[in-house]
Amino acid sequence: MTRAGIVTVVGKPNAGKSTLLNRIVGQKLSIVSPKPQSTRDRIVGIRTDDEVQMVLLDTPGLLDPAYPLQRAMRATSLEALDDADVIIYVADATEGSAAPLEQAAGLATTPKAPIILALNKVDAITANQRARLEKECGGAKFISAITGEGLDDLLATAAERLPESPFLYPEDEISTQAVRFFVSELIRETALEQLEDEVPYSVASKVEEFREDRSPVYIRAVIYVERESQKRILIGAKGERIREIGKASRAKVEELIGSPVYLDLWVKVLSNWRKNADALRRLGYRLPKEHAQ
Ligand code: GDP
Ligand code: MG
Repeated sequence: MTRAGIVTVVGKPNAGKSTLLNRIVGQKLSIVSPKPQSTRDRIVGIRTDDEVQMVLLDTPGLLDPAYPLQRAMRATSLEALDDADVIIYVADATEGSAAPLEQAAGLATTPKAPIILALNKVDAITANQRARLEKECGGAKFISAITGEGLDDLLATAAERLPESPFLYPEDEISTQAVRFFVSELIRETALEQLEDEVPYSVASKVEEFREDRSPVYIRAVIYVERESQKRILIGAKGERIREIGKASRAKVEELIGSPVYLDLWVKVLSNWRKNADALRRLGYRLPKEHAQ
């Protein structure tokens, strides 16, 4: 029997949520940065082991609702709490013991999902500090998202709390695809905005390369059109239009991921991509099962 469900990760900015999520999913997922609030959306990561699948939700801004933007994010984050089968409450052990989640997040009611307190950054505290925290926060898990200490135990505990269920997603699904998909959608949206009705619906886009280990983050993306004439329109006189599309897309992508981006943008013709199943798959569109070969 397999287990599967939603694991929502919550904690103050800089507690180490993104680092932990990346570690759990085993892939870079939401951008890790010392700057708080770089994760602008509820990004889903998926971890599948032999018999357990965790769908991971991030909750940006939940414990820091001081600004209007953060208030907007709060609504999304509260939904992520409601949806949870298990909540991992990440706190920074170097700041001492953590307030109860209900208090820290200003919740009106106690979440229905079990809450696991994960005291993170234990690599950065002394043995004395740790002994004190063990007394103060009974039942807490001591972890380091950076060294990996305590993570197996944390995950095993979370897994035990998940309902028995078939897997919710195909096993090879990873969230990086979600980030790539958001980015390619932003590029497509920008191209369509700037083209008005000149090339309607013939524009697709795909992220070919995404390197978060560099600064600026390097992203190579392709805008696909169906015909040479459309390619010429998209590029514009002396490449002016594609430069504008690139500039506007880059600004949106930087806002999404919270880091400077170098966007290497190309235009290619992929004949009749809308009718061509192989081309669609290459663009990352998932075809309904009955049409897939
Ligand atoms: P988030 O705002 O909760 O998503 O926090 P991040 O994952 O972006 O991490 C905030 C900062 O804490 C970054 O500089 C991380 O490198 C650092 N950090 C995260 N986990 C650990 C840990 O286990 N140990 C130490 N020493 N630093 C950590
Ligand atoms: Mg984060």
